[in-house]
Amino acid sequence: MTEIPPDHPRYLSLKERHGIIDGMHQKIVAEAGLIAHGRGEAFDYLLGEKTPDYALEQEKAAVAHLLLAKNSVISINGNVAILCPDSLVQLAEETGAKLEVNLFYRTVEREQNIKQILLDAGAKEILGVELGETAATIPEITHNRRIVDPEGIFKADVVFVPLEDGDRTMALRKMGKIVLCVDLNPLSRTSVWSNVTIVNHVRRAAQEMVDIAKELKNLSREKLSEILDNYDNNSMLKDSVKYMAERLLTLSQEKLQEG
Ligand code: ATP
Ligand code: MG
Repeated sequence: MTEIPPDHPRYLSLKERHGIIDGMHQKIVAEAGLIAHGRGEAFDYLLGEKTPDYALEQEKAAVAHLLLAKNSVISINGNVAILCPDSLVQLAEETGAKLEVNLFYRTVEREQNIKQILLDAGAKEILGVELGETAATIPEITHNRRIVDPEGIFKADVVFVPLEDGDRTMALRKMGKIVLCVDLNPLSRTSVWSNVTIVNHVRRAAQEMVDIAKELKNLSREKLSEILDNYDNNSMLKDSVKYMAERLLTLSQEKLQEG
């Protein structure tokens, strides 16, 4: 692991970047995962690398869905396995969700490596690994990208995809599932097509969702449903775009000279 001085102003972000690079060398993160992370960093810059209030509301709605689900699954890819495995394992524990390794670029080696990270983080059961003949498929998607576990995402009513691709989000929606995602780009197809989009860094979102789950899990089903009654994903996405746009203007006033 490359050393970064802890007093560097962007220590956490750089440490994370090196974690993702190392994860690629260790066959956990896909090459395209590096590029996806870079795009995420650019949006997170606009958030000042902090969680805005609107995101806490999005996270609360997502947790309410997980707690109300009959059968929920948290989907794990290489990037989230590097960025926040402990929080996602805890979130599964607090909400009763299952964990499934679900990869866009699927190889047996990467599946096994991610499974090991989740085991090290305390997970007991991990779906989506070495499915072989038993694999189920998401209709309308091609090749390896469509493989899911018949006991996991395939039969789930609620799927939390912390980082996902637009085509697969759409396909899961067409299968009738409630899709919850984290995406720092409020305008991606994943963001627009999900039932609840959390526009925040996945590391912060996952951590905060564990705390929210600890609070909400004692609520009645009626109270949890009330959280979702007036929830409008589109309007929450507009709030996030507005927040980013305003931040961009404020930042430019701070950093650029008048004139
Ligand atoms: P879509 O397929 O949904 O239309 P896209 O093709 O533009 O999106 P992808 O390459 O599929 O984008 O995925 C990258 C997305 O993941 C980017 O929108 C990026 O903001 C988001 N992202 C990357 N890293 C993180 C992170 N750490 N936390 C939250 N979001 C992230
Ligand atoms: Mg995409």
